Parts: sequence; structure tokens; C-alpha cells
Amino acid sequence: MEGQGLEQAPQLGNMNYSRFLTAVSAARKPSPIRLLTELQQLSPPTLISLAGGAPNPNTFPFHSASIKMKTGETVAFDETMMKRALQYSGSAGIPELVSWMKELQKRLHEPPTINFTPERGQLEMCVTTGSQEGLCKVFEMLVNPGDNVLLDAPTYSGTLAALQPLGCNIVNVPSDQHGMLPDALKDILAQWDPAGAHKPDSPRPKVLYTIPNGGNPTGASMTLERKQKVYELARKYDFLIIEDDPYYFLQFQKPWAPTFLSLDVDGRVIRTDSFSKILSSGLRIGFVTGPKPLVDRVVLHIQASTMHTSTFTQLMVSQLLHAWGQEGFLKHIDGVVEFYKAQRNAMLSSADKWLKDVADWHAPAAGMFLWIKLKGIKDTQQLIMEKALEKEVLLVPGGVFNIHSSEPCPYVRAAFSLSSPQQIDEAFKRLSALIKEAL
Ligand code: PMP
Repeated sequence: MEGQGLEQAPQLGNMNYSRFLTAVSAARKPSPIRLLTELQQLSPPTLISLAGGAPNPNTFPFHSASIKMKTGETVAFDETMMKRALQYSGSAGIPELVSWMKELQKRLHEPPTINFTPERGQLEMCVTTGSQEGLCKVFEMLVNPGDNVLLDAPTYSGTLAALQPLGCNIVNVPSDQHGMLPDALKDILAQWDPAGAHKPDSPRPKVLYTIPNGGNPTGASMTLERKQKVYELARKYDFLIIEDDPYYFLQFQKPWAPTFLSLDVDGRVIRTDSFSKILSSGLRIGFVTGPKPLVDRVVLHIQASTMHTSTFTQLMVSQLLHAWGQEGFLKHIDGVVEFYKAQRNAMLSSADKWLKDVADWHAPAAGMFLWIKLKGIKDTQQLIMEKALEKEVLLVPGGVFNIHSSEPCPYVRAAFSLSSPQQIDEAFKRLSALIKEAL
């Protein structure tokens, strides 16, 4: 149950997490009222509770709902279910969604030495309002002002937005289309003594952040060999890995790549998952999976902020997942992947047709983005913001994904998620004309 074990030392095997926690996170205490809500949920219906401050759902105006699926199935909220959907719920997520997702995580990533059972160490999971909430809370839990945080930029602008206000120093690890370069990481880390002594003026990094599949914006996917090397460096230099993997389910070939979580023998990987790209982005369902002492801290933060992800959307998704089962879910994913793969292929052939002479790119193996380097253009910011709209084509100038957004950047990010192949083709025709004019 949420809150349990929080008074114990944040320890798991040889890992003592105290040294990773920020003062803000270490100071968080369980909310007694939230704990009562949890207790009440797990108690028999004969319990008479005068505790808690939940409103009476009989006063709410909604009665029931029936949501029709494209397959013809329905997700139904009868009166009783609707009352539950409209009520407060536990901060870690509704139990049936968490348990369904734990089974899936076990199947997809089962880490070699720890899992969700107390006997084998303690991996834990909670629901978040999109993976963005999870990321933001994980950063707040681990990143102090002045800390060095390792990441492979260019990276997701939402990550930079969450990290930069924390006053940390972002250490950029060079990367290519296969992700972070372990040798470059090794060279960076060599500045610090693995035995524990710090470079006098700068603390050893405690955290490495990466997007292992279909990187946003680069489309890069990290090879298993590189993950293994990075994980070994994490052990040597004792840092945690934040594996932000919202494009995991959008990998264009099988078998899906083994994740950092699946390599984790120590309990040093915190993974964020998202249903945004495969079920709905508006429902706002994401997950944090990692060592229990850390996930418990994220849950404490949820208690004090959003209290929980919408009960309604959790129940909606949970009912669907239980009706589908794992096989139905994975079959749905196959259909989504087929769509994005065709879109990617359409974008690649339009790029070949229009941009060959004026740009370079690598075919992404996952996700929804093509990262395009414009030849002979030093910085795409002005070109896109001032000239592209005139030509009625819009892309994201690459600079917004850099740590220092003022640095010149010759890249643009093109998404193949929303536009039709015909629109993509026309957009690249316009982009080609735009580049040629600018040269
Ligand atoms: N991480 C990355 C790399 C992303 O691209 C996104 C969405 N654009 C997110 C996290 C956040 O996704 P969500 O909150 O919708 O799960």
C-alpha cells in the first residue's frame, strides 16, 4: 500500500537511495488523509467510515456512460462504476490498472534480480498523469541545484523545461543515430574518481537521462550493446538511469529492444512509460517503474500535488486492458506500429524525392520523428520562423531541443504522425524550395 515502508531507510539490497534524494524529496511525509483513503478502498463494504473528506457522489450530475470502441466493443460505466470513477482514488493509481501493468512490465522487461514481489527485491510502479508528470517528479526527487545531469542532447524540450529550473548543470553526452556513445560517456566520467571522491568544484553525476527508442527529436534508438556499456558505467560511477521510453511500443521491428530496466541488477533504473502514443494522449496515463524506495517518493509528491491521475480515465483504460488481455493489447500495438511504419516509409520516400541534394537524415527505427540536417544552413531558427510560414510549411527548428537554445543548429524535426503521405510529400517539396532559396 502507498506510504508503507516510507519510514524505513530508503534501501534496497546494496543500494541506499538516501544519497540520491534531494532535500525537498527527503522532506516529504505521507499524507495521513490520503492513507485513510487507501485503507478505505481496501476494506470490506461493511466498514462504516466517518473518516476522509470525500464528497458524496450522489450529488454529482453524471449518471452512467457507455464508450463505444472502434472494434464495436464498449467500455461501460454503470451507476456504481460511475460513482467510483468520479471519486477520489489512491495516489499510486487504481489497483487493477497497476496490477495489469505490472504483469505487462514483467513480461516485457523482467529485470534479472529484482521484480515486483517482496521476496525478490522490490520493484514498484505507480500511475502518473502522462509520463511528463512522472519525469518532472523524478527529476525533483533526484536533482539538486548545482548537480551534474548526464543526457544526450538534443533532447525532448519537455525534459529541458523540467530540468533547467532545478538549477542543475546539464552535461551533454555525444550521440549518433544509435544513441549515446558509451566511450564519450566514459571520457566524461573519467573526470570523477569512481571510488567516491569528487572533483573539488563539481559533484559527480547522480543521474543519466535518455530516450532509448525513437528519440525525440532525433529518432535515434540505442543498441543493446551501448545500453550494456552505459549500464556498466552506471555501476562503476554509481549513478541512476532515467529511461524515458514513450516510443517503446512504436518500434518498427521485432523483437523489441531489451530495455535498461531489463538489464538492471542493482535497482538503479527508473523507467517512465506512456500510453499517449498508443491509446490516447488526452487521457493522460503514464507510469513510473523503478526501485520501491524511489517510486514511493514519487507517490508522496503525487499525494501533495495532483493527489492522483483522474480516476475516470484510469478506469476507462483499465476496463479496456482487462477486456483485451495482454494479447489483445499487443495486437492493438501491432496495428498502431503498422500505421506509423507506413507513415515513416512515406516520409522517407518523399525525403528521397525532394531533399536528397539539400539535406541529410537517418531512417528512424521507432517513434514519429525524422531529424533532418539542412546542408549549407547554419541555423534553421530564422528560416523556419520567418520564411517557412510564407511557403505554408511548418517544422520545428532543431535549436529548441538544445540545452542552450541560442546555439546555431542546422536541423529541423519533421513529425510523420499526423499528416497524410500526400501532405508530407507536398511539405517536403515546399521545404526543398525554401532551402534552395536560402542558399
Ligand atoms: N518524453 C518524451 C521523450 C516525449 O516525447 C513525450 C511527449 N512528447 C513525453 C515524455 C511526455 O509524454 P506524455 O506526458 O504524454 O506521456
